[in-house]
Amino acid sequence: MTDVRNVIIIGSGPAGYTAALYTARASLKPLVFEGAVTAGGALMNTTEVENFPGFQDGIMGPELMDNMRAQAERFGAELIPDDIVSVDLSGEIKTVTDTAGTVHRARAVIVTTGSQHRKLGLPKEDALSGRGVSWCATCDGFFFKDQDIAVIGGGDTAMEEATFLSRFAKSVTIVHRRETLRASKAMQERAFADPKIKFVWDSEVAEIQGDQKLAGLKLRNLKTGEISELPVTGLFIAIGHDPRTELFKGQLDLDGEGYLEVEAPSTRTNLTGVFAAGDVVDHTYRQAITAAGTGCSAALDAERFLAALA
Ligand code: FAD
Repeated sequence: MTDVRNVIIIGSGPAGYTAALYTARASLKPLVFEGAVTAGGALMNTTEVENFPGFQDGIMGPELMDNMRAQAERFGAELIPDDIVSVDLSGEIKTVTDTAGTVHRARAVIVTTGSQHRKLGLPKEDALSGRGVSWCATCDGFFFKDQDIAVIGGGDTAMEEATFLSRFAKSVTIVHRRETLRASKAMQERAFADPKIKFVWDSEVAEIQGDQKLAGLKLRNLKTGEISELPVTGLFIAIGHDPRTELFKGQLDLDGEGYLEVEAPSTRTNLTGVFAAGDVVDHTYRQAITAAGTGCSAALDAERFLAALA
């Protein structure tokens, strides 16, 4: 058992590091659990980030995260590259336990554990991430001007990604496992009306091709078993996200899709002294800048909460 801290932050993406920076500058000496494997968050797995303000020529994802980390550390944030494996957030003093079994205590906790995009589970999917394979049209669409692109999925996100991408792309092919879409009627109609968008029904990706860059896809028709080639240089996978909220089930309120619920526009959860920010809350925007923005809000909410206790 350790001393009682002011604030513990669980997670180290743009939301966690921004919360760490603000709480450190407020002299709250935050303790940050960055995660054992993926310290730095989702941007550690990407190449160029062109839409984070302040970097006129873009910046590589890992470099951006190293900068955020160093900036938080400069003001006294204590960073630990470990996972939290259990929490008790109900009392006035919250406890979180790391992988060695050490229990850490704090008056306030900020949760910024992010969300995991679902993968197809195919060879080369990870290796070609940032090299033709993407999970975010807003982030990467611009890189695919005048190219042929495939979008995988049949829900609202897939339709939104496809209609967004059709502004840049030569063509967009939506590949869906069934013969009808799950997306809302309005989203479907927009996609059907777009002359650049085509559909391949009842099909899944059988193979991702290419070495340094995506070179094409092999598709399998799930009804006939037939294999066909789809020559694309962009693949956007839009089959959903899983917020990392397993740890908090039974303590923090989750919405129907498993995201943490907060009293928006604040970052307060249902438990006093517990705040949440970034993609673990956000279904809609899922950007580094919005995660950083709500990470800042969570830090300010925690700061005000702690000041009221004093
Ligand atoms: P994350 O970045 O997901 O970080 C969550 C952190 O929590 C992780 O480090 C994880 O290790 C940690 N964690 C989870 N569970 C625990 C635990 N139990 N204990 C301790 N730590 C834990 N956005 C843009 O704005 N521009 C882009 O160009 C862009 N490109 C992207 C490219 C890719 C390939 C991906 C996947 C996303 C991209 N995004 C981009 C989206 C952006 O990365 C996310 O919106 C953003 O990282 C979300 O920040 P976050 O802090 O909420 O969560």
